[in-house]
Amino acid sequence: MFSLPCWSFKDSPSNGHIARIIALFLLFLAPFAGISFLSGCAQVPVTGRSQLNLVPDSQLLAMSEQEYRKFLRKHRLCQDRAKVAMVKRVGRRISQAVERFLYENGQIDRIRGYKWEFNLVCGKEINAFCMPGGKVVVYSGLLPVARDENGLAVVLGHEIAHAVANHAAERLSQALLLQLGGDALSMLTGSYSPATRHLLMQLYGLGANVGVLLPYSRTQEYEADHLGLIFMAIAGYDPRGALDFWKRMMAAARNKPRPPELLSTHPSDRARLERIVQYLPEALSYYRRYLQEHGMKKRPVRRF
Ligand SMILES: [Zn+2]
Repeated sequence: MFSLPCWSFKDSPSNGHIARIIALFLLFLAPFAGISFLSGCAQVPVTGRSQLNLVPDSQLLAMSEQEYRKFLRKHRLCQDRAKVAMVKRVGRRISQAVERFLYENGQIDRIRGYKWEFNLVCGKEINAFCMPGGKVVVYSGLLPVARDENGLAVVLGHEIAHAVANHAAERLSQALLLQLGGDALSMLTGSYSPATRHLLMQLYGLGANVGVLLPYSRTQEYEADHLGLIFMAIAGYDPRGALDFWKRMMAAARNKPRPPELLSTHPSDRARLERIVQYLPEALSYYRRYLQEHGMKKRPVRRF
């Protein structure tokens, strides 16, 4: 195995320039050496997994912001004030807790430039997503399945975890390397082509004619479940609610011709529940710490 010094794309001009040169060099080598040696620098919080990231943060965040605005213009925002307030409240609590957590663990750089935003969109889809930069959408069709704030915290914890763990950049990097070597170069040199934009839209199924989502890998889904349980717990939501929530999701999926996106890339319902049971003791230790710090007072759980 090759061993390479760590590098990342930050906005400092000197570092950025060197990183680009290294990245171009790696891109040139990748077809000959395989891409596995490229990973090993960026590390996911909590799990410590090494991941590949060739996408400059500034590019990804700018693209994400643009696509998010476009998405919001094309979709109707939910007008139910109580529901909108609940979605924003749960989102704010989790994102603030996550910021504190990353700061205390010296990993606040992971979300530099993030501006959290939580919007509730009208639609029957049982779905939610969080784009890079902290841009979150919840479909109103998810709320009956979430049932209450704790159920929504399971989903938002999971989606925020995808963003904090930089899964989109990882998928985009892999896709660019495997399918669009030339386009990866254009991205590294500070521009992105319609093909790169199309890939980002595929990540979130945003385009009207995109249709197919680039799936998160199984590893990323388990990782989002793992981090998500911890993120909801540090915000004061009981992670044990995750088991019931995912069972409700699975039951809701049985009545649908296509599984909801939140479930579509998981290997099996049983395997997911088993993993969640494994992650729970760690998440519960964070939840207990939260309760101790707040005089053992549980959050009131409002129903949708
Ligand atoms: Zn997911």
